[in-house]
Amino acid sequence: SKAKLQLRSAPSEVKALAQTFNMMLSRLSEAWEQQRQFVSNVSHELRTPLTVVLGYLQSILRRSTNLNAYQKEALETAAAEADRTVRLLQDLLDLARADSSYTHYHLEPVILADVVAELADMTEKFSDRLIRVEIREPVLAIVDRDRLKQVLINLIDNAVKYSDFDQPIELIVDYAQQQAIVQVCDQGVGIPLQDQSRIFERFYRVDEARARSAGGHGLGLAIVKTLVEGMGGSITVRSKLDEGSVFTLVLPTQAKPL
Ligand code: ADP
Repeated sequence: SKAKLQLRSAPSEVKALAQTFNMMLSRLSEAWEQQRQFVSNVSHELRTPLTVVLGYLQSILRRSTNLNAYQKEALETAAAEADRTVRLLQDLLDLARADSSYTHYHLEPVILADVVAELADMTEKFSDRLIRVEIREPVLAIVDRDRLKQVLINLIDNAVKYSDFDQPIELIVDYAQQQAIVQVCDQGVGIPLQDQSRIFERFYRVDEARARSAGGHGLGLAIVKTLVEGMGGSITVRSKLDEGSVFTLVLPTQAKPL
């Protein structure tokens, strides 16, 4: 693959060393691929039956009019836990999929203003929050439309989760240094400086107590980062505690020459 060591005019010992190195590298990536495949299979196998369990619990809760307080609470707790776990499994599945070097990204020119407007509408409908959209430059990005949506949904979801109802959320589309920019801005709780470099790690959450999200797992931003980088882009965060956060996506505007 990319990291392969190639030493054409080196002494034979060095060549042998390079060969060993390359062999280790390919074993390592095979092992990684197997692990990824395993996580993906297990998540899938668990998610399916658990979704059925959740469906039945919800249906009993909806239909039963004569539950006593204990039964109601027990069913509600069971349903909430099942729901949380189904979402964790979906996140693990998404991450395993995004992580694969075999993942195919369907890259095409996408009008960012359209995608952003669509997601702003959707969020307003589902969360009742007001989303401001500012198109500074009407720019095309070369991305996988569905994956970009998944990225933005995750970021907007966080902006909603980690800010109060009356704090505005803003989506900005811009163009700078021949690249497309999308920013997701909130004026919520913010992220302490020492955590900012770690929030993109798997399962990393800032202060469990503070994270009032019902049911997050700390996988969302790991998925976001993997997807964005898979499309040839990058993501950074700027944030201040109690003032808010700005997540900045930098996306390619033209296909890279091969
Ligand atoms: P989750 O939200 O499920 O915990 P994420 O991977 O999406 O997981 O985020 C990781 C952590 O980063 C969160 O637990 C939260 O502490 C912090 N974070 C993410 N987005 C924001 C935001 N917009 N404002 C404040 N904190 C955030």
